[in-house]
Parts: sequence; structure tokens; C-alpha cells
Amino acid sequence: MAKKIRVAVLLFVLLTVAVGTWQARVRTTSWKRALDVVVFPVNADSKAQTDAYIRSLDDESFESIRSFMRNEAQHYGIALLNPVDVYIGPQVDAMPPSPPVGGSVPQVMLWSLQLRFWAWRHGEHPILKPDVRIYALFYHPSTTQRLGHSVGLQKGLIGVAKLFAVPHMTAENNIIITHELLHTLGATDKYDFSNNQPVYPSGYAEPENTPLYPQQFAEIMGGRIPVSQDASVSPQTLETVLVGPETAREIGWR
Ligand SMILES: [Zn+2]
Repeated sequence: MAKKIRVAVLLFVLLTVAVGTWQARVRTTSWKRALDVVVFPVNADSKAQTDAYIRSLDDESFESIRSFMRNEAQHYGIALLNPVDVYIGPQVDAMPPSPPVGGSVPQVMLWSLQLRFWAWRHGEHPILKPDVRIYALFYHPSTTQRLGHSVGLQKGLIGVAKLFAVPHMTAENNIIITHELLHTLGATDKYDFSNNQPVYPSGYAEPENTPLYPQQFAEIMGGRIPVSQDASVSPQTLETVLVGPETAREIGWR
């Protein structure tokens, strides 16, 4: 009897999660109202400099994300004037669970549920009910030279972005946040994981250009600006990034 009750409770929880996920998917890709994106900063290396950088952030720090989404949505004929609003959330004093390295499908699924549970406990905003939660894990470059992988999950609408805590990196940080934000809205990666080169044509901002190289823009999910068939450079600001047609289709813009 006790076992039957446990199974029933588990099934109920899974069903609730599934229905919630489906409703969230419809809500976030219908583009009928602005999505409220909240960026929760986390001091990931416990450094005083990282803390100081986090304290310098406000809603304005994410203006380039807002204007990027506005311009790109307009390009695809979305009537909504402002597709996303981005706000700074309260600092979170906990680290999200790390994804399993080379994990099996069940391990990744378990981690994704753990992350959703963690975000449910660490994702409150005093005024808003966030549609998308991005956890910005900040590291100071004096202690960390290379950042680990950022992730964005459509199920649960959660992103975890690993970023540098220095003012001159804010513009690049906003590119990473936008990339993970679009993952939460259903966009897929469009670069080759073995060498970070954008995949042609979906990872190119302007695949029809002749000559094809050098490209002037990066496609947001392609990640980099291709300058030749086997070389590319990192965009420094969202002003040199576009949303390509394939990404636009995935997030419901066409
Ligand atoms: Zn990605």
C-alpha cells in the first residue's frame, strides 16, 4: 500500500512538472507579451573583487540584451515592441548543482530535475515572477583564466552562465547570457563542439554573402564570427551578433 502511494505521488509530481513545462513552452514562444528575464548573480569564487563587481550591476547593465532582442524581433516581423525585459535579481549565496561530466541520459535528467528544484528554492524576485531565470556565476580573472561551460535548459527555463567579474567584460557577458536565454526558449547550438567553428549555413549570420568570408556578424547560437572556412573570432558586443533564420524558427519568430 505504502509503495502504491509513493508511486502515485511520484507520478503526480512528474505529471505536474510535464504540464508546467508544456505551459511554459507555449507561454515563452507565443511572443504575446514581454518575457521577464531575471539574472541572479552568484559570487562563484568568493572574492571581494567579484563581490564589488556584482554590486556595480543594475538593470541597466543588461540594456544591450533588451535592445538586441528588440531589434532582432523587429527584423522577423514580431509585433511586440519589447520581447524581453531583463532585470537584476538578488544575489544568490549558493552554487547550482553542476552538470554530470559525460553523464548518461538518466544522470543528465536527474541533474536537470535537481537544477529545477534548486532554482525553485533560489529564484525569487521581490516584485516579479520571472519567466526565465539566468544564474550568472561570476569569477574574477585573477583566480580563473578559463571559464567552464554555460548551459541553458528549456525545461524549467533556467540558464547558468559562467562570466568574468570585470567591467570591460560586461558586453561579452551579455552575449553569453543571451545565448543561454535563447537555449531556454528552444534554440539549439550551431557550432562544431570539436573546434568551436560555426556550422554552415545555420551558424552563420549571413550565409548568403558573396564572398562568404570574412563575415561581419556572429549568429547568436553559432557563437563566433567566421573569417575563413576554418577560422573565426569572438564577437565583443551584441552589436556584431544577429539571430539567424534557423534560430528564429526555433524560438517561434517565424
Ligand atoms: Zn549553447
